[in-house]
Amino acid sequence: MTLTADQVLFEKAKRHIPGGVNSPVRAFAGVGGTPVFVSRAKGAYMYDTEGREYIDYVGSWGPMILGHAHPKVIDAVKLACDDGLSFGAPTPFETTMADLIADIIPHIELIRMVSSGTEATMSAIRLARGYTGRDKIVKFEGCYHGHSDSLLVKAGSGMLDIGEPTSKGVPADFAKHTVTLPYNDIDALQSAFDKFGDEFACVILEPIAGNMNMVIPSQEFHNTLRELCTKHGAVLIFDEVMTGFRVGLRGASHHFGITPDLSTFGKIIGAGLPVGAFGGKREIMECIAPLGGVYQAGTLSGNPLAMRAGKAMFDELTRPNFYEELTAKTAKLVNGLQALAGKHGIDFASCHVGGMFGLFFAKELPKNFNDVACADTKRFNQFFHAMLKQGIYLAPSAFEASFMSIAHTDDDIERTLVCADKAFGELI
Ligand code: PLP
Repeated sequence: MTLTADQVLFEKAKRHIPGGVNSPVRAFAGVGGTPVFVSRAKGAYMYDTEGREYIDYVGSWGPMILGHAHPKVIDAVKLACDDGLSFGAPTPFETTMADLIADIIPHIELIRMVSSGTEATMSAIRLARGYTGRDKIVKFEGCYHGHSDSLLVKAGSGMLDIGEPTSKGVPADFAKHTVTLPYNDIDALQSAFDKFGDEFACVILEPIAGNMNMVIPSQEFHNTLRELCTKHGAVLIFDEVMTGFRVGLRGASHHFGITPDLSTFGKIIGAGLPVGAFGGKREIMECIAPLGGVYQAGTLSGNPLAMRAGKAMFDELTRPNFYEELTAKTAKLVNGLQALAGKHGIDFASCHVGGMFGLFFAKELPKNFNDVACADTKRFNQFFHAMLKQGIYLAPSAFEASFMSIAHTDDDIERTLVCADKAFGELI
């Protein structure tokens, strides 16, 4: 049997890279098959090593909100390269980025740049612990906040008791400080706070979840969470690594009208270069070194390439009607998919906010991780491959959200819907 170009490359990659990939979801483990090896991308399209074109709805898992290789971003990076790649000393570009974010998001009084979303959430948690002098943290089932030890934890057998690591290598002693609750469940939240409220350093959540496909929690859930954190002195951390500047210019905090104490960002703010950030209330942020006793640092933090690429990105995001246009594109695609599923008599539910969307083979939209896990993942996988075969690149997992960019044209969306009509028709 002759191997495809991707199969050859995958086998080659496996010789020296664990599983052939540098991040597990790229291996297509959930949907099966061989990952597409990408050689370049431009606008809404990615090209594999044989030049085959894909309309891309993953966008590097979020950052590519302008589409790939946007000329202004690329120019900014080229200029930055000419000036040197990293200095290990302050630059004015970091101040520009901090000012930009603080101007857009009113509750960001101080912000620190790091190099990944994982670093941002890990540092925000250490900060919350340092600020409150408490150890316990709360997270929610189905939310992902990167791969630091205290966040790779699931609920133990007694929901409110000791957490269990979800990865080998995470000490049980770390996991025991993490309480994992069902997402979007006010009763569970209330019970946890009744039992441990005054021991919680923080609650961290994706304010709109994008790591269990996409789940939009209720306004009441958010209101209750804010009230309980305030009442018990726990720091409320919105992990907006995915939703920040994606669901709207001011992110999910603005969408729900909630002011978290700290927020974390990543993805979009670096326009595709490695970046993360955490920020919020001055009183809390002042606990970070060198002002306070909570240590946090990074050789490449505030990297000039990432800052200048991010600035070019923000110049586009802040132009009039950017998010209206992006939302209209997402709505056109998602409503079109919903109508086609109806035409084919297929149970299908979808949701979207700004440039982020979720697709489920289920009668109703999931409210939490359990519901997501009960959707028909086999059908999702079949649909994914039927689309991929036609050159449409959706998120390669039933547990991930997909993303629209401003570069997707009406024509791209209509082409996607024609392919979806065929893909739905082929489902068994
Ligand atoms: N937080 C959220 C909500 C994410 O979606 C991710 C990554 O997808 C992270 C944190 C971790 O970010 P990174 O992969 O940059 O470490």
